[in-house]
Amino acid sequence: MENFICERCGNRDPRYIGFKNGKPYCRRCISFQGESVSYEKPLPKRAPLNLHYGLSQDQARLSEKIVSNFKNGIDTLVYAVCGAGKTEISYAVISYAISQGMTVGFALPRRDVVIELFYRLKESFPENKVVAVFGQHTSVLKGDIIILTTHQLFRYPNYFDLLVMDEIDAFPFKDNPVLIAMYRRAMRGSCVLMSATPSENVIQEFKKPDHEILELRTRFHHQEIPLPQTKIMPSFLQPLFVVAKLLHYKKEGKCCFVFTPSIEECEMLYRFVSCFVKGGSFVHSKKENRQETIGIFKKKGYFYLITTSVLERGVTFKNLQVMVTHADRESIYSSSALIQIAGRVGRKSDAPGGDVIFLGEVESKAMKDAHDEIQFCNTFL
Ligand SMILES: [Zn+2]
Repeated sequence: MENFICERCGNRDPRYIGFKNGKPYCRRCISFQGESVSYEKPLPKRAPLNLHYGLSQDQARLSEKIVSNFKNGIDTLVYAVCGAGKTEISYAVISYAISQGMTVGFALPRRDVVIELFYRLKESFPENKVVAVFGQHTSVLKGDIIILTTHQLFRYPNYFDLLVMDEIDAFPFKDNPVLIAMYRRAMRGSCVLMSATPSENVIQEFKKPDHEILELRTRFHHQEIPLPQTKIMPSFLQPLFVVAKLLHYKKEGKCCFVFTPSIEECEMLYRFVSCFVKGGSFVHSKKENRQETIGIFKKKGYFYLITTSVLERGVTFKNLQVMVTHADRESIYSSSALIQIAGRVGRKSDAPGGDVIFLGEVESKAMKDAHDEIQFCNTFL
């Protein structure tokens, strides 16, 4: 019995092994319950792309390289600066895999980003069946392209001929042994992993044979990521600063996200700010009509949103400014989180630039690192 190894998550730690009717079972992955899918080779299908704009030269070069790696069974890590358009460079290999009758998955740690990507891929692959699989949304498990949260990978043992994963450095995937084991178990072919801030572990893994690291260090519109401005002030002054800035943006017709470290602080700041500045709202993970609020913002019904980290990744808006309150709280704002936030700004080629403002009582190491990393990325333009 000491030799029990969980076939789902690879666990062999006796502390997480229970016994039922004398038989061992794994307690580490017990929360992953539900229907799973067995592999069946799909029929080859056409997968023509519908892109609104072409790829940049750098994107096109990497995109071809990923396809040739995939044909040769090489796993690829795409190390791309924020805003480099790394999602689009995976489209060619996805299209190729479908045309060869292969199963394709695209996994992301967070459900919001899964939903956003689902709409983008549906538009880009108009002739194919794109499905989204996440908690509470698991009735359809098969399609030409399966977009799923990393939590749902357990449903696909030895399934994906091509598995693309983005934001591998993000919570909750990062350093989570159960999720990492499930990703390995889901893959039968090769993978393409993407990250703006890969950990040292991941980089080391991709230095092994049959692995390659590709770097994409310029943004697709060849514009700089705005360098964050750091404003040092006591916490009680930060809401006043936010009010003054928002009034200024309103006059200039600009829109803004204001990041807060917690749900409570998000609601508190909104209660204060909304007394002085109309035309905004707030979002966080517990707010029920969050997608609706974001929809109103997209249609310019609001010009500012007070938010938690739910809007940190994957969301793009034209002409956006961002402020981060309590940016010095390092338990919430790591340098990679701050870089992601800064990457929200200036992402549309017709409206680059914009403010990125970090507010703190001190400048944390993460704030300094984020500033330096962005400066470094910008030197590659
Ligand atoms: Zn297990």
